[in-house]
Amino acid sequence: MNIRLLLAACFLLATYGTALAEPLFLSSDRNGPLGKRAEFLLEKGGPLQFREAYSAWQRGQFSPGRYAIASHGIGADPVWMHLEIINDRGRASRQVLTLGKTWMDHLHVYIVREGRVIRSWKTGDAHAATPELVAGVGYQLPLLLPQGSSHLFIRAQTADPFVLATHLRSPAQSEASERKVQFGYSLLFGYLLALICYNLMLFLGFRSRSYLYYALYLGSFIAMCLAYSGHGFSWWWPDQLAFQRFVILVLMVVYGCCGFLIASRFLQLHKRAPGVRRWVIALCAAALMLMAHFIWLGSHVDAALLAFNFVTLFSAAMVCLGVLSIRYGQREGRYFLGAAICSMLGVASTALSVRGVIPMTALTYHGVEVGMALEATLLSLALARQVRSQEDALRKAERLSRIDALTGLCNRRAFYEDAAGIWSTAVRHARPLSVIVLDIDHFKSVNDRYGHQVGDGVLVEMGELLAKSCREGDRVARWGGEEFVVLLPETTLSQACLFAERLRGAVAGRKMVAGANTLSISISLGAAERDSQLLLNELVGEADRKLYEAKQQGRNRVAPARALEVAL
Ligand code: GH3
Ligand code: MG
Ligand code: MG
Repeated sequence: MNIRLLLAACFLLATYGTALAEPLFLSSDRNGPLGKRAEFLLEKGGPLQFREAYSAWQRGQFSPGRYAIASHGIGADPVWMHLEIINDRGRASRQVLTLGKTWMDHLHVYIVREGRVIRSWKTGDAHAATPELVAGVGYQLPLLLPQGSSHLFIRAQTADPFVLATHLRSPAQSEASERKVQFGYSLLFGYLLALICYNLMLFLGFRSRSYLYYALYLGSFIAMCLAYSGHGFSWWWPDQLAFQRFVILVLMVVYGCCGFLIASRFLQLHKRAPGVRRWVIALCAAALMLMAHFIWLGSHVDAALLAFNFVTLFSAAMVCLGVLSIRYGQREGRYFLGAAICSMLGVASTALSVRGVIPMTALTYHGVEVGMALEATLLSLALARQVRSQEDALRKAERLSRIDALTGLCNRRAFYEDAAGIWSTAVRHARPLSVIVLDIDHFKSVNDRYGHQVGDGVLVEMGELLAKSCREGDRVARWGGEEFVVLLPETTLSQACLFAERLRGAVAGRKMVAGANTLSISISLGAAERDSQLLLNELVGEADRKLYEAKQQGRNRVAPARALEVAL
């Protein structure tokens, strides 16, 4: 084939679409949107009356549609659409014409037979109380098409993104399709509402503001969704045209701001990157102020451009913040980044399909909702993870605050905590209870002779020996320096002295290895049994006085010596 002919054919196809406009037979399969079967005329030089548009069509000035759904971006010129419908069913047929999206300002629809308009409608969200609007679906018009050829003309106009999705279905098909859409929305809203309640409860329980902000973010998404799907306009404010004009755009900006709020809280930007946080706040404030300014001026197109650019920027910024959080070493950062990527892909898919950059299909249009459901799930996991790591850190800090770092024994604070229960049981049941305080003799000279490190080694070995020698119910702690304390429940003074003597003997008979040298140490011990003391403190003080006695009497011994003699 001649190459020039082939190139010309390709050029024609690219310019005028793959399918030329052809009549729609009611008996044919026609489930999808009808943009490719229709013809279009852009209204460039001022508004056209129906008659003028009709003459233009007769003169062949309409061109075939390129996409199944005509989308022309923000602030596009009004568009006329023509579609010939042939009822070949042998009788008049009831059909439902569905036009979307719900934010289209003006939709003028004409049914023409033999050059005469037999029915017309004027609807759109710039018209008060439109009974044709079905929430979540679009504008539904019931048609009664007589046999033979009818011509459908639609004039569509909006300052928002121009999206003209046209379907012609039987009443049964239309109902089935509507049920599917409503089911999808119920599922989405139900899931997100459950997450909101769950996060509000977590907020009430943990008092952590992350949960509150997250619930706010989900709430702002639901509000935005209810506004652009038409639920709000058809159910709650059907007469508030000025409100309807800007509410979707305002909620888009609010949604982005709430997203930034949860991101900056989650990533703790105030601590980790105060500079980035300042930028985020400035960006949100600028967007809100600009939006207020455009509303004040009544500039619908500027407000729409602002809302769409802000949301696009927001989803890109969320991905950057996710990368930042991973760089900061936040373990939950991976969930956050995953969530941000899901949301960004969803927002991009919806925004690009609504702007007419990519073809609009059910999936590309509902991308933001699918992305949001995934994002909500991943962010919930991220928040749960964050709580877990905070709890782990808290538990670790608590554990460390009870333990002596050198010997691994309990410290004084943990000793008192653990001993409180043992002490009160002994008091209540009038059971014997003893305390031993012990101290390494001349430990200073160990340090002086062998160095501090060897001294530390001796303390560690002492700790191990004590831990090994005690019974299960006993409590050992490092009291400070080279002094240790042992609490002995169900133990009389003479039994305690016996135990102390065994410890003394074990230490004295032990050779400690310190580098190249071996060394011997000795300990002195003081014991006391609970008697008239009201507090454990006083008993420890008593044992400490006995230890002083043991030191006075020459060290390497147990005091009171008399009690030991009795026991022996
Ligand atoms: P005494 O027989 O009277 O108890 O004499 P001492 O030398 O053992 O007692 P003194 O109170 O004079 O000295 C205690 C020494 O214990 C001084 C201090 O440097 C040392 N010491 C305290 N804590 C540690 C520690 O954690 N590691 C090491 N290596 N030495 C310590
Ligand atoms: Mg509108
Ligand atoms: Mg000492």
